[in-house]
Amino acid sequence: MTAMNIPEIYASMVFNDKVMRERLPKDIYKAVRKTSKNGTHLELDVANTVAAVMKEWAIEKGATHFTHWFQPMTGLTAEKHDGFISPTEDGGVIMDFSGKELVKGEPDASSFPSGGLRATFEARGYTAWDPSSPAFVKDGSLYIPTAFCSYGGEALDKKTPLLRSMEALSDAAVKVLHLLGNTEVTHVDTTVGSEQEYFLIDKELYKKRKDLLLTGRTLMGAPAPKGQEMEDHYFGVLKPKVSEYMHELDKELWELGVPAKTKHNEVAPSQHELAPVFETTNVAVDHNQLTMEVMKKVADKFGYACLLHEKPFEGINGSGKHNNWSISTNTGVNLLDPGKTPGQNLQFLVFLMAVIAAVDEYQEVLRISVATAGNDHRLGGNEAPPAIISIFVGDELEKVLQSIEEGTSVTGGGKTQMGMGAHVLPHIMRDTTDRNRTSPFAFTGNKFEFRMPGSSLSVANPNIVLNTAVADKLVEIYGKLKDATPDEMDDAVHKVLQEMLAKHKRILFNGNGYTEEWVEEAGRRGLANLASLPDAMPYFIADKSIGLFTKHGIFTKEEIYSRYEILLENYVKTVHIEALTLMEMVRKDFTTGLVRYMKDVTTEALKKRDLLPDSKCSYESEILKTLDKTSEEIVFAMNKLAEDTEKAEAIGEVLEQAKFYQETILKEMDELRFWTDRAEAIIPDEYLPYPTYEKMLFSLR
Ligand code: ADP
Ligand code: MG
Repeated sequence: MTAMNIPEIYASMVFNDKVMRERLPKDIYKAVRKTSKNGTHLELDVANTVAAVMKEWAIEKGATHFTHWFQPMTGLTAEKHDGFISPTEDGGVIMDFSGKELVKGEPDASSFPSGGLRATFEARGYTAWDPSSPAFVKDGSLYIPTAFCSYGGEALDKKTPLLRSMEALSDAAVKVLHLLGNTEVTHVDTTVGSEQEYFLIDKELYKKRKDLLLTGRTLMGAPAPKGQEMEDHYFGVLKPKVSEYMHELDKELWELGVPAKTKHNEVAPSQHELAPVFETTNVAVDHNQLTMEVMKKVADKFGYACLLHEKPFEGINGSGKHNNWSISTNTGVNLLDPGKTPGQNLQFLVFLMAVIAAVDEYQEVLRISVATAGNDHRLGGNEAPPAIISIFVGDELEKVLQSIEEGTSVTGGGKTQMGMGAHVLPHIMRDTTDRNRTSPFAFTGNKFEFRMPGSSLSVANPNIVLNTAVADKLVEIYGKLKDATPDEMDDAVHKVLQEMLAKHKRILFNGNGYTEEWVEEAGRRGLANLASLPDAMPYFIADKSIGLFTKHGIFTKEEIYSRYEILLENYVKTVHIEALTLMEMVRKDFTTGLVRYMKDVTTEALKKRDLLPDSKCSYESEILKTLDKTSEEIVFAMNKLAEDTEKAEAIGEVLEQAKFYQETILKEMDELRFWTDRAEAIIPDEYLPYPTYEKMLFSLR
């Protein structure tokens, strides 16, 4: 591995604050800073100057084009590149980039999912510069992070509602902080660090699997004799080439200003993880999208395929993306850090309570924020958190909360009426808060870790919901406290905490989330157990959800309905493609192997009988009998699946259709797979035109 000067290359391709300070005239720099902080409008002459400077800088970095970079509802990023060139009359060109081009773009939006928001005849959308996320140069283009809206102003992307939710949370938090006497704070940001899991497999093997190519996951395949049971991969020694891959990945991410920090092998064979240093949510989301993209690109260079699907292989762990989340003030205080003084404790408890109440009250929409066809295979599979949302706070903090609810002192246990100001929290050890890996939503010392997001998800989704739900609870808390005088404040806060705890403590659970007992207990507590996307979706358009999002200006009712449609349509399309791919793989690839093997075994048996007339050819007959019986089952299962897939396609109402895919098609795919896997287990590898699980998972160099 070559040495590198990291401070020099870090963010070398980013038009960040440092570059702007160096290169922009002072007043222009100030104007941009103000815009990025307050989301105000940039005057055109200011934009022109910024564009000119940005262009010069980008050209120095090798850019020939610029692109507005946005995040449509596909969950991926989108870009359309325009050259800087502008022909001159004398037949030459100049390099041109105007303020108008910087702040606004008009991509043809007709082919992006809009869930009926835009009638197709007015397929115009526009992209608007988001100065709070820095522009960067990649692959010869200047990338400008943008929001994507319709001309009617409706959000067609994930960034717009995310920015709205950050604003809502900031406004609500600042009001509460001011009531608590913390008047210096004028703005808060939510912070996110998203740990990204992924698989690497040999690219040549990948290319031979139709299922991986078309759907991102294996739809058939007998298990390898070895899986992850030896637990020898987690934190294991990195293979030299994998290590080189990670090195190159880090380097490319660092150049783009993505603070990649931690890397290690994960639980499943060929599975790895990368974790960044946390950043402001908006930037963290952009950076996670970039991370996924660069992971794939660098994999290609190394002859690998990087799999970001939530469940690429049956029977071994899938991949998630832990969303670490906290709130920090513009004065540099992490509001979810318990702190050391009673005042800090009080503030901490208020914000902690807001999160607990938010997650309980809006558990259904939080579940929906991570719902995809892929993630459905993971949640509740005893490898990832269950589909039931609960919060782990650790024993110590739970005791504190209990004592608050009962009005007793933490240490004593006697009924002392304590003012909150005197409520000194015991020092909360980080260690004791991070032990429970089965919890979907765990307090880990000074932040929450939401463990339900799947590996391919844009983390915009869960953060939109988290920010909004917590903002909602802070507004509620503000309402209850706003009339208290400073003298009354401690008691008032105490009362609010007691009330809210009584109402929301059902969401707190410190035990093992993987057990059947918890599923039952959660049922008794009235917690939602939404096992699949179609189960969960109706809650998104329920009054409670619409009330939440419209109240805080995150989504209009129409935007919610459009997203509802898009999510369901996406689910339907995903499972449909999977069903077709599975059938094609069985008909063509698998059948080739099966028929050839049966033919060879038959030929060998006949030859043997010529040679040894007395032989019963028991071994050969046994193989043939098993394969013959299995083929019959395969034909049966295949016909059923083909028939029902046609039926599914014809269903007109999208929720009903999604339910049919989930309840019928996925089950029938499993049934078909059950039989092909049984056959595959006795067919020698060389007969199969696609690589087996064993090859894919254990042959990586
Ligand atoms: P580990 O889980 O390995 O013990 P940490 O819990 O320290 O490591 O960090 C895991 C992830 O949480 C990292 O991506 C880190 O940047 C992120 N993180 C740490 N502090 C915060 C915070 N205040 N807000 C958001 N994310 C954070
Ligand atoms: Mg962690």
